Amino acid sequence: MKLTFLGSGGGRFATITQKRMTGGFRIDDIDGKNIHIDPGPGALVRTYQFGLSPLKLNGVLVSHSHTDHYTDAEVLIEAMTRGMTWKKGFLVGSKSVIDGYERWGPCISKYHKSIPRVNILEAGETVKIDKLRVTATSTKHGDPKAVGFKFQVDDFIISYTSDTGYIPELAREHKDADVLIASVIRPDGDRLHGHLCADDFQKLVEEVSPKLAIMTHLGMKLIMNHPDQEAERIKKNTGKQVIAARDGMEIDLDEFRPKQQTLDEFKS
Ligand SMILES: [Zn+2]
Repeated sequence: MKLTFLGSGGGRFATITQKRMTGGFRIDDIDGKNIHIDPGPGALVRTYQFGLSPLKLNGVLVSHSHTDHYTDAEVLIEAMTRGMTWKKGFLVGSKSVIDGYERWGPCISKYHKSIPRVNILEAGETVKIDKLRVTATSTKHGDPKAVGFKFQVDDFIISYTSDTGYIPELAREHKDADVLIASVIRPDGDRLHGHLCADDFQKLVEEVSPKLAIMTHLGMKLIMNHPDQEAERIKKNTGKQVIAARDGMEIDLDEFRPKQQTLDEFKS
């Protein structure tokens, strides 16, 4: 199972300047499926740039209706369905993304919703696709229907906060994550409403205690302020493995799977 960052930037200014790429991330071979999460501007092009094929996608997931998370979703749906000719794949998104909510969205046309299986998730709801369980998690963000995603196959959990301010629900809902991916927009304690800063992320890493914590969706101030050093500081303070995503970074997720108990351990 492989995680690839098709971008590590986020927020309006990192996006419109492309100081960091904004294609979201992809998980390949999760229960035999390839899924693309939050395909912002450039996602299609970055997929090819980093050696992956959008034709091999089984699912597209969009957490909320901000451009840095959704703009390439429709073209990826076209790739996933071979130009809308194969009844294949699934689309999971917030209500704002799929149907629209108040002044937010919709981000996907009726045409693009007509072929894949479509699921709307509100925080706390789960959809099951074979053995893969996707649960929406709570956020506090500009789009009131924004969600994070928790992916579970057997006892392996990869959790993604998406964009959110710090709320107590985060610790509870991401609690069992083996790998935690968080949108962190600013360094230190520099808070921006509806987003995590590095200090908020550190608190969450302490509470969730994952085997690996990755900060992505880095905003302009954080990009300019040595995100690797911020990650190193949080690693020292928490004793956990913490890294800042880089454009094109690949991670072998199998290293972080819970070890299977052997029969002998079981008996003892
Ligand atoms: Zn956002």
